[in-house]
Amino acid sequence: MSSKEDVVIIGAGIGGLTLALSLHQAGIACRIYEAVPELRPLGVGINVLPHAARELSELGLLPELDKVGVRTRESIFFNEHGQFVFREAAGLAAGFDWPQYSIHRGDLQTVLFDAVRQRLGPDAVVCGQRCTGATQDDESITAHFVSPEGERLPDVRARLLVACDGVHSALRKQLYPQEGAPRYSGVNMWRGTTVWQPFLSEASMVRAGWLDVGKMVIYPIRNDVDGKGGQLINWVAEVTTPRYERRDWNRRGRLEDFIGVFEDWRFDWLDVPAMIRAADVLLEFPMVDQDPLPWWTQGRVTLLGDAAHPMVPRGSNGAGQAILDARALAAALAAEPDVPAALAQYEALRRPATTDIVLTNRKTPPDAILKEVYERTGDRPFRHIDDVISQEELAAISNGYKRVAGYDLASLSR
Ligand SMILES: Cc1cc2nc3c(=O)[nH]c(=O)nc-3n(C[C@H](O)[C@H](O)[C@H](O)COP(=O)(O)OP(=O)(O)OC[C@H]3O[C@@H](n4cnc5c(N)ncnc54)[C@H](O)[C@@H]3O)c2cc1C
Repeated sequence: MSSKEDVVIIGAGIGGLTLALSLHQAGIACRIYEAVPELRPLGVGINVLPHAARELSELGLLPELDKVGVRTRESIFFNEHGQFVFREAAGLAAGFDWPQYSIHRGDLQTVLFDAVRQRLGPDAVVCGQRCTGATQDDESITAHFVSPEGERLPDVRARLLVACDGVHSALRKQLYPQEGAPRYSGVNMWRGTTVWQPFLSEASMVRAGWLDVGKMVIYPIRNDVDGKGGQLINWVAEVTTPRYERRDWNRRGRLEDFIGVFEDWRFDWLDVPAMIRAADVLLEFPMVDQDPLPWWTQGRVTLLGDAAHPMVPRGSNGAGQAILDARALAAALAAEPDVPAALAQYEALRRPATTDIVLTNRKTPPDAILKEVYERTGDRPFRHIDDVISQEELAAISNGYKRVAGYDLASLSR
């Protein structure tokens, strides 16, 4: 038996849910099929940069995001000795028309999921259906599913199937059967959240240290979580190491595997090892990506988000690029009734843009600022940062990344 939809979306992550809302806004019927039996607010922190916030604003979601996330005010860099390197304003404070959010991934997913259920109806997301592949003819595409127990479920037929099924995408595997597992970057990450007192501007995104000797990314993702002004702080410890295991978003991490690297990180604005030790969640996963693909679309199936362009998380851009993909695809489908032609438009816009980001995240993401300082100082303390590198040079590294990622101030305005 098979039922017929207009657009079938595989995966109710950030990309799939944004696509459903955008298609609905354009008057195109769709349904999401999600592998897990129940959506639970998993993960830790992520960032939504101003270009992605603009898209969520077009969907009318900023009031909901403001209830759960933190509007980031600045991005600030230190060396591993806690010495100040560089600071720049972020989001509205930097003059953008849209904020930057630091937010729990689960909160962002919940905001999107609630909006999908309200606007598209309670059965717009079908859970417990893992897509195993798809077959197609000139008229339609048929998706195949199994239950969480592995039993075959009824097929679903549609005009178009969009694979939003993440870094281990089954559909990508079908399109590229020879492609290997995601490529390990050489850096392992331990990520966690801790309830802690606000530090610096109370909305600062901190990057400190360098990968070879230990690097941290630290920022608040929920305000006043304990009724005493405490924030939920998201932190990521990144260490160069050959040891890693397959990326699994729920793998528990072990403190003893990395805490030694950060033991003397006691700065006047934050006691880093104490914050790490007080964590309520501790996860471990490797920094992986894949080489950019030469095409995403085959007939009536295309890829979106991490399924299309998994990238190492060094530019705060993974969720944002999935959001931008979703908006671009919905706009193409709204403007062009011929499905293959609309997909060609979508891919022409989004594949080159995300290819550049995947490659830039490997070489010169914003934390290249820290690499530069690390190399120029031989990781020794400096007298003043201006003796090492000028603020203009540091700003140029940051602005270069923004241009590649599509959120430089000049090109992003109303
Ligand atoms: C549980 C989880 C936790 C995460 N935590 C973090 C985090 O803490 N920090 C961070 O930076 N990024 C995290 N991510 C990744 C982040 O959400 C993505 O990098 C980014 O938002 C791009 O979104 P996406 O929609 O392409 O993929 P994702 O958000 O990964 O969504 C993919 C969705 O597809 C579903 N799915 C997978 N295979 C199938 C299938 N065969 N059939 C049907 N459904 C399928 C998954 O269950 C998931 O809901 C997490 C992802 C997941 C799934």
